[in-house]
Amino acid sequence: MLDNLVNLLFPKTCFSCEIRLLKNEKTICTKCENSLQFLSEMPLNNNFHFDKIVSLFQFNSVSRKLIHALKYDEIKIISQFFAEKFKIYYNLNYPFKEIDFIAPVPLHLVKKRDRGFNQAEILTKEIAKIMSWQHIPNLIKRTKFTKTQTKLSKIQREKNVANAFKINKKYSVVDKNILIVDDVFTTGSTLNSIAKTLQKENPKNIFALTIMRA
Ligand SMILES: [Zn+2]
Repeated sequence: MLDNLVNLLFPKTCFSCEIRLLKNEKTICTKCENSLQFLSEMPLNNNFHFDKIVSLFQFNSVSRKLIHALKYDEIKIISQFFAEKFKIYYNLNYPFKEIDFIAPVPLHLVKKRDRGFNQAEILTKEIAKIMSWQHIPNLIKRTKFTKTQTKLSKIQREKNVANAFKINKKYSVVDKNILIVDDVFTTGSTLNSIAKTLQKENPKNIFALTIMRA
């Protein structure tokens, strides 16, 4: 009853188009949800150091809004929404072998302090929870301050993130299946730099997951 009352006073609206949600709709409306279609697996060339990458959705007006909200507003609700989507995708496609460790792409400490959180970490936490996988938030650490990637070319991006990461020595990744998570795949240079560093520690497989592909 309290739920109904709250809903009456503060009706929930779609995170994307802001129309009022129906009873059976949770985060976004059915129309917006239908615009999010799972992507097929991305073929990898030899320059990539991970074994497989999955991106769930292409950028469109709906996914762009959700990713934006992930950074600034209702991070937990949106993360749970994407985690549920990932579980559906996983059960349909079974893209990775059993995952031993799931870890986020780390945000530089200065940025984390400014923003207060790392959206990739919260996303990873929700995915780990729904999949019952072991989340290690600090498995990968940044070793240098990197410029924001947004305005850089592909080559500049690669240079920018080269040797920018190290693996936390507290954990052994030998013979483990590792899944690295980020919100958006652009050129893949950050994920690739992490994978290159991870590879030296002899894991079994390195997988990558992003919610969006730009
Ligand atoms: Zn909508």
